[in-house]
Amino acid sequence: MGTRGRSQRRVAPQRGRLIVRLLAIDPGSCRSALVYYNTEKPVRGTFVTGPVESRFLIPNDEALGLIADQKFDRLIIEMIEGRGMRVGADVFRTCVWIGRFTEACYEKPVVEIYRRDIKLHVCGKTTAKDADIRQALIDFFGGDEGKTRAIGGVRCPTCKGKGWTGRKHVYCTKCTLADGWESAPGPCYSIVKDQWQALAVAVTYAARNRNEKGVAA
Ligand SMILES: [Zn+2]
Repeated sequence: MGTRGRSQRRVAPQRGRLIVRLLAIDPGSCRSALVYYNTEKPVRGTFVTGPVESRFLIPNDEALGLIADQKFDRLIIEMIEGRGMRVGADVFRTCVWIGRFTEACYEKPVVEIYRRDIKLHVCGKTTAKDADIRQALIDFFGGDEGKTRAIGGVRCPTCKGKGWTGRKHVYCTKCTLADGWESAPGPCYSIVKDQWQALAVAVTYAARNRNEKGVAA
């Protein structure tokens, strides 16, 4: 990360401008989950057409590098809040990293979202656990069943993903488009662990700021 950011004035959000690409972070004390999320892509369909452009679960130093690249319109960070509970050193360490991530975002606006608000938006209740958030996201992105399921990526058992069968390579009739998939990789394909939380951050921001034109500042 360069030193450019320190001397530059933080940029104020431009009202009315459309926010296409988000970088959403679920920050941790040592490593963080990040998702690049395109707000103009449909949430139902395949991984190729879907809004999740890439996802990471990387050491915080590397996350700083992604942020410093500034290849997004807005940085959305899940913010820690006091809930009257005793907290350990890792929580304070995470807070330090949230500060460093914010500082590294020298050109684009940063928005903090509280976990409570994410739970409320995604699951409709503040008592939701990580597993509830994951399941709610799967439902949102196409569910567990059907050809266009949220995760998908199941190869056709008849042709074993080839799209054809036999010596003469006749088109497989089981995967109707003969593309070799029983269900193509869905919008949430290969998302793991805390990346689900980062995705929840992006989905919440996009939903709260969407108007008839798209996601606006
Ligand atoms: Zn097949």
